[in-house]
Amino acid sequence: MPPKLGLKVDVDTLQGFREGVPALLEILAARGIKASFFVALGPDNSGKAIFRVFRQQGFLEKMWRTRAPALYGLRTMFYGTLLPAPLIGESAGEILPIIAGAGHEVGLHGYDHVRWHDHLLTMSREEVSRELARAQELFASLLGHPARSFAAPGWQCSAAHRAVLAASGFLYSSDTRGSVPYFPRFGEEINPLLEIPTTLPTLDELLGFNGCSSEDFTELVLSRVQKEKVPQVLTVHAEVEGGPLRGDFAGLLDRCREQGVEFLRLEDWARELLAAREKIPVAGVRQGRLPGRAGTVSCQGNLETKS
Ligand SMILES: [Zn+2]
Repeated sequence: MPPKLGLKVDVDTLQGFREGVPALLEILAARGIKASFFVALGPDNSGKAIFRVFRQQGFLEKMWRTRAPALYGLRTMFYGTLLPAPLIGESAGEILPIIAGAGHEVGLHGYDHVRWHDHLLTMSREEVSRELARAQELFASLLGHPARSFAAPGWQCSAAHRAVLAASGFLYSSDTRGSVPYFPRFGEEINPLLEIPTTLPTLDELLGFNGCSSEDFTELVLSRVQKEKVPQVLTVHAEVEGGPLRGDFAGLLDRCREQGVEFLRLEDWARELLAAREKIPVAGVRQGRLPGRAGTVSCQGNLETKS
């Protein structure tokens, strides 16, 4: 079996929609690669997120490592703080049919990305339902059908949100960091919705860390894709790999293609996996820390056999 890589593209901000997505569509089209895009359609509160990150330890060091001052335009830095938060789905929604028309998967990346990232773990089922309903309404108005796949903002995953997704007709979700697809267990309860985790570190986590160059990152991705027996999942951000790091990202794709890596859309893989549902393992979910990323993210626990 040729080595396989799924590209999960998160679009968090208006700037990501307007500048990052067109750049990524061009990079992918030039190489005949299909990817899975996940879009946040609610208010762009990125100003709040940026000020939150600014207060965290290690922020300036990370800015320096990742050339981040170029990542976010000045306006984005003030959305939701000094400037009102624009509704992304209303301001830039016309790009959704273009993404889908190019043969990519389009799924949801929440409604209010910042609220989800900062508050999901204390949100009730009703609150999560409201977030999801708002996002689905915008999604359906733009694409003519509700989203069938989901990716949690900031890899924040809870029993409440998984229960809401499972009851809402989704095919699968991609909410955690882990190693293989699984059904998440919360206490005694096994969530029946397939989880396809992000398996690889992100470029912005590792770039500049211990002298890691973008070429080093590419080789790390390639060696993992070649070594592992299951497809690997790489998360990229429209604001980063479709922004100042787009040359590095294009280089990574070229190197992977040169080495015979095949690219898959996560929804196609999900259908394949669900055709043999009984073979999918169960695993717990815990909050953990990752090198180069501030705060905690939801991580896959040890694999269990389904009981
Ligand atoms: Zn995101």
